[in-house]
Amino acid sequence: MKIFKDRHILQKEIFNKPISFVPTMGGLHKGHISLIKKSKKYKKKTLVSIFVNPKQFNKKSDFKSYPKNKLRDISILKKLKVNYLYMPSIKDIYGFRPKNKIYLHNFSKRLCGKYRKSHFKGVVNVMNRMIEIIKPKKIFMGKKDYQQLFLIKKFLYKYKINTKIIECNTIRENNGVACSSRNLLLKSNDIKIASYIYRYINKIKHSFNDNKFNFIKNKIIELGAQKVDYIEIYNTKKNFKRSKKYTRHCKIFFAYYINNIRLIDNV
Ligand code: AMP
Repeated sequence: MKIFKDRHILQKEIFNKPISFVPTMGGLHKGHISLIKKSKKYKKKTLVSIFVNPKQFNKKSDFKSYPKNKLRDISILKKLKVNYLYMPSIKDIYGFRPKNKIYLHNFSKRLCGKYRKSHFKGVVNVMNRMIEIIKPKKIFMGKKDYQQLFLIKKFLYKYKINTKIIECNTIRENNGVACSSRNLLLKSNDIKIASYIYRYINKIKHSFNDNKFNFIKNKIIELGAQKVDYIEIYNTKKNFKRSKKYTRHCKIFFAYYINNIRLIDNV
């Protein structure tokens, strides 16, 4: 595996090579690994990036406490026989003016966008730059962060960029909790709470409707969450139209805090 810190050197290496790209912020887990394995099935070189993007964090403290484990991540990627790893500095990513402006579809104002101001602007900003540097044929993204995936798709469409997003299923621990780098910040009792919450929402999803919102929110708090940001239903096939009921192609999106750690998921 070749490791790059400088975008110019990376660009020389991958020039004219079809690339399958897996962007990450490190703290690698089974979710990331499934994306990488899927990418490796295509007959292209797999490039993984590890970059904890400061612009998508709302609080400096959250950015600072984000789990980082460079050596462990590199060893995982080597075992997976990844072709290229790009680990840029902040300057390498933000030290140039990209060709395209940040484009944010209106859906960026919903769900996480409502509670984490400028989060998606930061996400699209970094992806715009990564895409300009790497020019990937395919990008592998997880449905765990469905809103992010949708907004990147809309960004590519807006600028007619010839890159395909491959949507990857959410990988979960045995207790149902979606794998996430942030889980490393949770204590064992917090993980139990996250598991109860996932199981509860999964169980009641078919009877969920907007009228029950307060009841369900209170139940999630009773199960041990500190606070619920949102729990809403959207139809993922109908351009993320809000739905009152859980029907075919719908998903329940939720975000909540346990012990000051913010977790998101959808079922
Ligand atoms: P992150 O490192 O959290 O920025 O995530 C990098 C990529 O991995 C994103 O496309 C995420 O949606 C995806 N991802 C994160 N967690 C999971 C998971 N549990 N299952 C599948 N994909 C995931």
